Amino acid sequence: MNTLANRVSALLRPEVLALSAYHVQDASGYIKLDAMENPHPWPEAMIDEWLEVLREAALNRYPDPAARRLHEALRSSGGVPDEAGLVLGNGSDELIQIILMAVAGSGRPVLAPEPTFVMYRQIALSLGLPFTGVPLRKADFGLDMPAMRAAIRDRQPAVVFLAYPNNPTGNQFAAADVEEIIALTPGLVVVDEAYSPFADDSFMSRIPRFDNLLVMRTLSKWGLAGLRLGYLAGHPAWMEQLEKLRLPYNINVLTQISAEFALAKQSVFDGQVESIRRERGRLGDALAGFGLVRVYPSQANFLTFRLLSDDANAVFAALKDQGILVKNLNAAGGLLSGCLRVTVGTAEENQQFIAALRSVLSGCQHGVS
Ligand code: PMP
Repeated sequence: MNTLANRVSALLRPEVLALSAYHVQDASGYIKLDAMENPHPWPEAMIDEWLEVLREAALNRYPDPAARRLHEALRSSGGVPDEAGLVLGNGSDELIQIILMAVAGSGRPVLAPEPTFVMYRQIALSLGLPFTGVPLRKADFGLDMPAMRAAIRDRQPAVVFLAYPNNPTGNQFAAADVEEIIALTPGLVVVDEAYSPFADDSFMSRIPRFDNLLVMRTLSKWGLAGLRLGYLAGHPAWMEQLEKLRLPYNINVLTQISAEFALAKQSVFDGQVESIRRERGRLGDALAGFGLVRVYPSQANFLTFRLLSDDANAVFAALKDQGILVKNLNAAGGLLSGCLRVTVGTAEENQQFIAALRSVLSGCQHGVS
């Protein structure tokens, strides 16, 4: 006789009731290697300069709804082709939502290879859109092209999402496969380049060649996860429509000012990205050196590895006991069973992680995990 619970379930859409909220583990007190953040703080002098710039912020006024100066800064730093339109989002999460709101009701599904970024599925389901996940190849997490071709032909998706590089596997799919998918897909293909600062290839310059290609980026992994700023580029015919769904002031005053400031300091961030890429190589070598671990090649700022003889849940928990937080992919099961994902941290954090893993794995071998 819980009448409020009855009212909630009677009123809300069944797809909303069926969802679980996006879970973020509590990281306080841990060395935080779970969320693909840039671990490097800003130089002191840059913080002072930024605080001076923030004085200009008129918090009593609405932000520039078109964020004109920020558009220009993103276009030039991101190499957005002149022919492309641009839509900004409160993180790329919001852009995924905008794209899917635009096709909701079409009855046509959303498709993505899996495992991939969970928000494609989550937002599709929240909007009542059918979602089709096509398993990646087990051996190397590459695209299973026969399965992708069949799914696109049979399902005729409204939108295909391809994270390039992919999260949580870290690899970049073969560019020729991605191009074939764009050519085959009747709807939109969103190439999600959240990890582009750490990758060797991008689809941004290919936008003029494909009128159904949208390229999505974020400043989160580059170093500004706290600001929440993503951008989407593609043919203006699409962008003009999606712009109608963007809430007028979705990019707040502090984000606009701070992102413009940071984009003008490109060289500081480039230096940090360089160091993360270098550390990724060292961390990968150290992990591979354990022998008890299979580490997958990564074009992103994290490494996914499989425990070959230890229980992933036990290793995750033991690392946590030692103050190190990584992401437990084992919980998702399937292709990721036995896998953990570690974000590349500072040289010191990575050393602490490796030392902790070494002690955990030798402990596990002796049955003491
Ligand atoms: N795309 C991919 C592939 C991601 O891994 C993430 C974050 N983990 C996002 C998009 C979302 O990024 P944000 O909302 O911070 O821009």
